[in-house]
Amino acid sequence: MSETIFYKALWAWMGLACAVFVMLLFVTAPYGRHGRKGWGPSISSTFGWVTMEAVSLVAMGLLFFLGDSQGDPVSWVFLIMWTVHYFQRTIVFPLRRKNPGRDMALSVVAMAAFFNVINAGTNGYYLFHLAEPYGLSWLTGPRFLVGAALFFCGMAINIHSDNILLNLRGPGKPKYSIPDKGLFRFVSSPNYLGEIMEWIGWAVATWSLAGAAFALWTIANLAPRAITHHRWYQDKFEEYPKQRRALIPYIW
Ligand code: NDP
Repeated sequence: MSETIFYKALWAWMGLACAVFVMLLFVTAPYGRHGRKGWGPSISSTFGWVTMEAVSLVAMGLLFFLGDSQGDPVSWVFLIMWTVHYFQRTIVFPLRRKNPGRDMALSVVAMAAFFNVINAGTNGYYLFHLAEPYGLSWLTGPRFLVGAALFFCGMAINIHSDNILLNLRGPGKPKYSIPDKGLFRFVSSPNYLGEIMEWIGWAVATWSLAGAAFALWTIANLAPRAITHHRWYQDKFEEYPKQRRALIPYIW
């Protein structure tokens, strides 16, 4: 694919993210607590999560090994950052969720897998096929250092917050309760905040339009869902802390 076509396609992909953002303000993605009928046949949600996220691991790995940038250590660093995130998301997170028996619409799995294959595809294609070698000195430059710090800080917040949620479930515990540890004291969806930080960090560390497109898509998916979660908590629990925000501490 020529560079010009690649960048045109990326801009179109980013335009679609903006449209999806607006759409998700009105139509909540039907999975988890917002799952509902009318989205076609369902499959086990654990199987759905593993399948739709595995696509990202496989696509990135393939693009790396089919590319010619294995001689650049920075390519390995990007591959490792991606793989650490997606190993956690594909294998560890779905198997730790405590909602056996819950189903997920196949259409949601298909849409998420499509989103994942395009994001992994554009990032892997740019990093391992299109970009000039970054060179070792990239790893000590400000863009990589700031981006990687944001990425790993976001990952820590995301995993820690998901852990708090997963620990709310168990024998004798209600299906949903109010999380009150960690950053949940400030916002309703710190796991989403961490995820958004991660991909903004990735965009900065790779300094790429493909990275920026992925960050934009993550915001488009998760910011509307954070609003919906926040309203859901407020409707469901009268005692829900009034000072808690949806996604950004003290602000929003
Ligand atoms: P949620 O916060 O909705 O749920 C996470 C897990 O915790 C689920 O198993 C959920 O159960 C359970 N849970 C949530 N709230 C409570 C509560 N109050 N009491 C008890 N259990 C609770 O996250 P998502 O499922 O939407 O996302 C999971 C991960 O995937 C997140 O880390 C998110 O950042 C990431 N993600 C990334 C996207 C991207 O675009 N990059 C898009 C979507 C997700 P249940 O499923 O039964 O509600």
